[in-house]
Amino acid sequence: MPIHKGDLIEVQFTGLSYKGYGLARYDGREVSAMGALPGERAEMRVLRKPRHRLVGEIVRTISSPFDRPEPRCEHFGVCGGCWGQNVAYEDQLRLKEEIVRGYLRPLVEAVAFSPILPAPENWAYRNKMEFSFDRGPEGEFQLGLHWRGRFDQLFDLNTCPIAPPIFSEIVRFVRAFAQERGLPVYDQRRKEGLLRFLTIREGRRTGEVMVALTATRRDKTFEGLAEALMARFPAIRSVLFVLNSTLGQIAYGSEEAVLGGRQTIRETLRVKDVEHTFALSFRSFLQTNTHAAERLYEIVLDRAHLSGNERVLEIFCGIGTITAFLARKAKKVVGVELIADAVANARSNMAANGIDNVDFVVGPAEKRLRDLEGAFDVVIVDPPRAGIHPKALRRLIELAPPRFVYVSCNPKTLADDIRVLREIYTVKNVQPVDLFPHTPHVETVVELKAMNNE
Ligand code: SAH
Repeated sequence: MPIHKGDLIEVQFTGLSYKGYGLARYDGREVSAMGALPGERAEMRVLRKPRHRLVGEIVRTISSPFDRPEPRCEHFGVCGGCWGQNVAYEDQLRLKEEIVRGYLRPLVEAVAFSPILPAPENWAYRNKMEFSFDRGPEGEFQLGLHWRGRFDQLFDLNTCPIAPPIFSEIVRFVRAFAQERGLPVYDQRRKEGLLRFLTIREGRRTGEVMVALTATRRDKTFEGLAEALMARFPAIRSVLFVLNSTLGQIAYGSEEAVLGGRQTIRETLRVKDVEHTFALSFRSFLQTNTHAAERLYEIVLDRAHLSGNERVLEIFCGIGTITAFLARKAKKVVGVELIADAVANARSNMAANGIDNVDFVVGPAEKRLRDLEGAFDVVIVDPPRAGIHPKALRRLIELAPPRFVYVSCNPKTLADDIRVLREIYTVKNVQPVDLFPHTPHVETVVELKAMNNE
């Protein structure tokens, strides 16, 4: 029987992808559907048929081995942000653990897997969120988040329970202000208008809040908005204007200006009773769950087994959040990072925390590692989703530091890279850490050891 778009089929799901899709086989084809969990039987409508696969939406769950709690969020299901508010947190953890094991099982001995570490908070954990402005289908004002799978469609956000309450309060305040003053919103279809994005960031340990408005041009009304925001929310320490007059739908722009307060806010990280404070600019990368990131970094420090005498190579070091803690426990750290701005932040963060045993190298790891001199005792990597560039992997195998700690936000590329590293390394431990409750994302810290060093 040929299967057509729109057909209803009954599917027995057996797996979960790292993007949160339930996986199954039907009539010899791979099937995926958002929201389905392994062990569930469901009726699914076929939405798309890319290259002999079937992508569907769940119409009705027939049977499930899971409790399905009521989602807390009024926007759940429509919003593209969360995947599992209707899955008990304990079950989310087991499912994430299984995603990691599924990819790494062929490469790692069973005894090396440690149980997943839960996030310290399941709600109100995010320290940064980006909201978009648009005109709705009827030309109405919108400020919110994207529909699941729809980059071109927003819904008006009222509250978001995975962000601190002040984020939703600021969204509602900005919406009321913009509507009252008739501020023109950027229309994504017509590509005209003013306001494009509202980014909110909070130092979870300092309480300092940053609000950034991305717009196609600077307008006098923004000054009034900045003033009104700071008067209404004393926690706001920085209001920024970001210029993006290009067609690219991104919150980052070519120019930044302070509308109120300072250019940066601060965040403090506490790892193993050591505290370091970091200045965050609008562009600085920081793990979006501060308290869970502290747990992650604690694991990294444990797995690095530093005694104080080591030369440590840290690749993908960002603004130096892991670097600062490593530097306290090692003789020397060399940090490699692509973005020059991040390295400038990292340098001032080290100075502000009284750390003087770190050198930074700016540029792509796949190029910069070539010129690195000297031997390293430990290498720490924390790459973006795409994993490590093959040239950088090759060079690391040449440098062959005896200990290797891999921090990954994508179990799929992690497995690909470990497959290459197995040439000279064995995996000693795999530790999944949950940083993002209710989403399918999972971080993993893998400890490897060079084989000639047993
Ligand atoms: N370890 C940091 C940052 C991790 S995010 C933290 O925990 O905060 C990954 C970092 O890798 C980003 O800062 C990004 O700019 C950097 N990066 C991405 N591609 C890179 C490359 N090819 N070479 C070096 N750094 C890269």
